[in-house]
Amino acid sequence: MTIEERLDEVKGRIAEATRQAKREALAVQLVAVSKTFEADAIRPVIIAGQRVFGENRVQEAQGKWPLLKSATPDLELHLIGPLQSNKAADAVALFDVIETVDREKIARALSAEMKRQGRALACYVQVNTGLEPQKAGIAPDDTVAFVALCRDELGLNVEGLMCIPPADENPGPHFALLAKLASECGLSRLSMGMSGDFETAIAFGATSVRVGSAIFGTR
Ligand SMILES: *Cc1c(COP(=O)(O)O)cnc(C)c1O
Repeated sequence: MTIEERLDEVKGRIAEATRQAKREALAVQLVAVSKTFEADAIRPVIIAGQRVFGENRVQEAQGKWPLLKSATPDLELHLIGPLQSNKAADAVALFDVIETVDREKIARALSAEMKRQGRALACYVQVNTGLEPQKAGIAPDDTVAFVALCRDELGLNVEGLMCIPPADENPGPHFALLAKLASECGLSRLSMGMSGDFETAIAFGATSVRVGSAIFGTR
C-alpha cells in the first residue's frame, strides 16, 4: 500500500468507528504523527489533504516543519512529546497546539513564552492515567486543580486532556477515566488513541486520535 492508501484506510476506519459510536461524522480529528519520518515522506500526506500533524521532539520538528509550513500555511502542528523548559520558546514559535502540558514548571514556562511572543496556543493537559513512574503527566487526582491553575492563574488556553495508556493494559478504562476527568474540568476535547487502539478511543469519546505507524509505516 502507498502512504496515500494507508491514510485513506485510517480515515475510513475513523469514520466507521465514529458511526458505530453514534457520534457526529466530523467529531474526531486525525493527528498524523510524523515523528522520525523525513519531509519527503510527509509531503504526499499533505498533498492528499491531511493538515494536522504531530511531532514528539522540538528539535526534530524544527528541522523539517518550517519549510513544510511555509509551503502550506494552513497546517496545524501538535507537540505530543515531553517538553523541556529550555525548549519552550522554540516550541511556542513553531507549534500550534501543545498536547503535553504535564507539570507546573512547563505550564509556567509556556505561559510566559506565549505572552512574550503574543501567541496563545491551544493546550492539552497530559494525564498519567496509569500512574506509571516513567511516564509524564499529571496524576488523575491532581488533574482538576492543575487545569484550574493553568487556566485561571496562568491564562493558558486549555482545550482538553491527553493520555497515553500503559502499553500492556486494556486501554478502555484509561480512556473512560480521561473522559470523566475532562468532564469534571469542563473540558470537551480528548486526545487519546494511537494506531493500535484508536477505534476503542473513539468509542470512549476521543475528539482527536494520534496515529503514526498505521499511516507512515513502522518506525
Ligand atoms: C508516537 C506517538 C503516537 C503515534 O503512535 P503510533 O502507534 O505510531 O500510532 C501517538 N502519541 C504519542 C504521544 C506518540 O509519541
